[in-house]
Amino acid sequence: MTLKTKIPTVLAAAGLMTTVFAGAATTADAAAKPTYVECGAAHKVTKKMCAVFKAADKASRAGGYHWDRTGRCKSADRLNWHPSGRACDLIYGKLGSPAKQGNLKDGNKLVKWLVAHHSKYSLHHVIWQSRIYSGGNWKARPYPCKGVTDCHKDHVHVATVS
Ligand SMILES: [Zn+2]
Repeated sequence: MTLKTKIPTVLAAAGLMTTVFAGAATTADAAAKPTYVECGAAHKVTKKMCAVFKAADKASRAGGYHWDRTGRCKSADRLNWHPSGRACDLIYGKLGSPAKQGNLKDGNKLVKWLVAHHSKYSLHHVIWQSRIYSGGNWKARPYPCKGVTDCHKDHVHVATVS
């Protein structure tokens, strides 16, 4: 098994596929045909997802808070955001272990950057540490979840509107 095929499998096993909440697509979403691009470590994602991925990659490298591993972006599963190429999981530390100390601080910095740039990059929502940031004022709200990965204690999830 190559690393490429292994990552989605590992993520599925870790329960990443159980984040049902954010997924409901509207009819308009379904009707829109997104443009997919090859996007480096994110592989095949929408143009908007690729734009934020690359910008966040650059900013976090410059700021010294880059994630350790890119998890599932577009992949075949039953949920909407990831399979449609509109979401990526950015892992801090080890998947399945809650981010602590430096990793926790780094993830916080990334989330701060994402929230600050949500409008520029057409973000739909960001999830990290049992909190979701989205819509309206983009203030943190509790994210109902169970377990390390489902609660996004080990990775930042970012999704774009299209
Ligand atoms: Zn995710």
